Amino acid sequence: MTMRTPIRTTLAGAALVGLLATTGATAATAGEDPAAGPPVGAEAEVYEAEDGELAGVEVDNTAPGFSGSGYVTGFDADDDQVTITIPESPGGLHELTVHYRTPSGQKNAVLLLNGSGMGEITLPETDEFAALPAGKVLLQEGTNTLTVRSGWGWYEIDAISLEPAAERPPHQVTGEPVNPDASPEARSLLGYLTDHYGNGILSGQQDMASIEWIEENLGTSPAIAGLDLMDYSPSRVERGTVGVDVDHALDWDEGGGITTFVWHWNAPSGLIDEPGNEWWRGFYTEATTFDVEAALADPTSEDYGLLLRDIDAIADELQRLEDAGVPVLWRPLHEAEGGWFWWGAKGAEPAKELWRLMYDRLTEVHGLDNLIWVWNSVDPEWYPGDDVVDIVSADSYPPPGDHGPLSATYDQLVELGQDRKLVALTECGPIPDPDLLTAYRADWSWFVTWSGEFLTDGNWNSREHLEHVYSHPDVITLDEVGDFKNHGR
Ligand code: CA
Repeated sequence: MTMRTPIRTTLAGAALVGLLATTGATAATAGEDPAAGPPVGAEAEVYEAEDGELAGVEVDNTAPGFSGSGYVTGFDADDDQVTITIPESPGGLHELTVHYRTPSGQKNAVLLLNGSGMGEITLPETDEFAALPAGKVLLQEGTNTLTVRSGWGWYEIDAISLEPAAERPPHQVTGEPVNPDASPEARSLLGYLTDHYGNGILSGQQDMASIEWIEENLGTSPAIAGLDLMDYSPSRVERGTVGVDVDHALDWDEGGGITTFVWHWNAPSGLIDEPGNEWWRGFYTEATTFDVEAALADPTSEDYGLLLRDIDAIADELQRLEDAGVPVLWRPLHEAEGGWFWWGAKGAEPAKELWRLMYDRLTEVHGLDNLIWVWNSVDPEWYPGDDVVDIVSADSYPPPGDHGPLSATYDQLVELGQDRKLVALTECGPIPDPDLLTAYRADWSWFVTWSGEFLTDGNWNSREHLEHVYSHPDVITLDEVGDFKNHGR
């Protein structure tokens, strides 16, 4: 799998950023047959792409199965696009369906509504024209335009259709942790998040240096600190890294903030360690020969033992947090379905098995009861199961300045957890506009903006947008969090 955004590295203890790519809407997920996609409802209006305004693309009619008089093809240059006009709309929230074909494999397309970015959709491979649910769009009264812009290109757009969105039924989230022995603090945190679900979004920021930037530049502080156990990975420690984020978490907790941890787990062995794939990139599939499937298949193997060694090392760090009464929104094995990290490189089954191994090891063997388990893939094939997941989540990096609500991804996650699990935006580039979250009923529990330039370059998020977000009445900042550790107690 290609990583679409250059990997940014800072070795100064900060997280090595890569990640990206499962962006926007992974609208139809692997395993579902897009050609068999849901029928378009009776109320749907169809708008043919070939009637749209074409830029760098052309109409063709050689492949069978299209509607209208043809379809639009030739998306190759970055700014190639078709803009489809929707006349005389009564306005309001609508479900968007994209009718398309991808004869040369899965592609991504960028969507714009009335010229504003709406994130990306993933178009699963299909030789036949197929209908893909592509999330909600909030139409204005009168004329609207929907633009499909190149993205990864090499797909064909037949039409779009729109129908009024149904009301979302009330959430069914219980807030009961999957670990029956969850600590009072963990229970309170999950209860706190559950009680706020659908009533505002918690602000979060990855990396302490970036949090300090917010404090200095915006005069406020996020509710959630995103931290990383990366530098506690044994294969890094033996090369000299010294983890600091657990200490940061202890300080952050003293200041009343909520903590989430990811773990860029440097592969236990098999680091390639050559220029371009240095040892410190060892969480990337391409930077290691470590085979998670083979390791798990043989519990007597050295590599299986190394998996346990690493989990045990991390358990020591998480234990420090439990000892201090710090509950953790715990997000290991993140972005597994992307395949760009070794734990996802061999497909869904080893990733799920490793999740359960980690859950059992940390919960049962080490007795860590301060963890709220945050799963971070959208595809149902990858889901480890309701009994070992508290919260479902996704990471999303739409183009810079695209502050759309990511409603397609949100809706997929609601479905993944059958609306019984909280849904979180655990990493983002551009922060969704809180006004749109309300309008689209995209009730993300929290967001965490990734570190460095995602926050500070004025491009991913303008200063104006950051001020809008951090002063918004629906966005919960540190000073508004309250005593989440005693919530409901
Ligand atoms: Ca057509």
